[in-house]
Amino acid sequence: WEGKAQKPKEGEFIKLNPDKTIEVPDKPIIPYIEGDGIGAEITPAMIHVVNAAVEKTYGGSKRIIWVEVLAGDKAEEKAGDRLPQETLEFLKEAVVGIKGPLGTPVGKGVRSINSALRRAFDFYSAVRPVYWMGQPTPIPDPQRVDVVVFRENTDDVYAGVEFFSGTDEAKKVREFLIKEMGAKEEGFPEDVGITVKPMSEFKTKRHVRKALRYALENGRKNVAVIGKGNIMKATEGAFINWAFEVAQEPEFADKVLTDPEAQPNEGQVKLSKVITDQMLMQLVLKPDAWDVVIAQNLNGDYVSDLAAALIGGPGFVPSGNIGDGYALFESTHGTAWDIAGKGIANPLSLTLSGAMMLEYIGWREAAQKIYEAVKKTFEDKVGTPDIAAGFKKLGIEAKAVSTYEYAQEIAKRI
Ligand code: NAD
Repeated sequence: WEGKAQKPKEGEFIKLNPDKTIEVPDKPIIPYIEGDGIGAEITPAMIHVVNAAVEKTYGGSKRIIWVEVLAGDKAEEKAGDRLPQETLEFLKEAVVGIKGPLGTPVGKGVRSINSALRRAFDFYSAVRPVYWMGQPTPIPDPQRVDVVVFRENTDDVYAGVEFFSGTDEAKKVREFLIKEMGAKEEGFPEDVGITVKPMSEFKTKRHVRKALRYALENGRKNVAVIGKGNIMKATEGAFINWAFEVAQEPEFADKVLTDPEAQPNEGQVKLSKVITDQMLMQLVLKPDAWDVVIAQNLNGDYVSDLAAALIGGPGFVPSGNIGDGYALFESTHGTAWDIAGKGIANPLSLTLSGAMMLEYIGWREAAQKIYEAVKKTFEDKVGTPDIAAGFKKLGIEAKAVSTYEYAQEIAKRI
């Protein structure tokens, strides 16, 4: 079918080693999914900025070979399938990729492409670094926010095992719980609905190892594992205990301090346990207390959006779905059909996801250049209309430009 991705003549695929580390050639082939809605606008903007940073940093000795792979509306149109097998195969071969937002048509029995991708690659950690770059924000001291949220992505209530009130299934489960498992009847009236919350040792520990390795490799000191372990002992409580067990493993034992009084030195981190509601308060009241937050799926969802709101909303936050080597970076917002085609979408979430991808493949200097250039656009008060409007609300004049012009403004400052 038309648009099916072919391996380009130049460039090589990133190699996934048996120990799940990656080897990155100088001209890696990176597939991208443009995305639905504003995807067609923000994806070219991201590519423009990433290419400018790589060119400026490596002067042609390193270059990304971009290949479009289709998913979403474009794939449905061309291949009759919202997530063609060929796209999955190409992404697998390439190991690392990036995607714009994909819509899930409501009520048509269409599966979510995002969850299909997550399952296909076992992206078990959703990683969201939240930091302020100079944009207008709802809080007066956003420079204090610099936290990376590691959200477990395969466990928890998202398993979708639910029994609705009034159904035979709910009645059966209720009876089983009361008659065979000792549940008290008062907690399970006849009209109860039940959602199952599974949490496993294996899934928790691999996620925690990823977060701790990240903290150690990036010089982050204060790591919190959150949860309401006091209430949900078998799941969130167990998650916290498993995290502390990981800290005792030989890889971490002398680097991850767990004594509440400990002061981490160079090359060490401190792991603390924080109740979820405390963490939500602390992120607002003293956001600089934490560098990395390790969370379950549902808590991670809340925490990452709250953290994002502090620095102006999800439009300014990148995201990475990471598994054993495989990684897919993506914007955190949706398809924004209400503004699609108008050239006004803010490309920062996807562009910063591009920078995060550069860090992931070890091209940190290029990523750094993107961060610096974005900061300069805020200093110069130029941005897409949403950014300009944010500044105006604070009584600061700003120049509004289109999505692609904004990418050019960033690239100019690299
Ligand atoms: P949305 O993020 O698309 O839009 C919410 C609001 O934010 C809209 O007013 C929109 O105009 C604005 N907005 C979003 N991104 C913006 C940007 N980059 N610049 C300026 N304004 C922006 O959320 P929604 O309406 O709830 O979802 C629409 C579709 O997107 C749904 O089909 C949903 O499933 C999908 N979605 C996909 C992803 C993903 O692919 N990861 C994430 C979230 C939602």
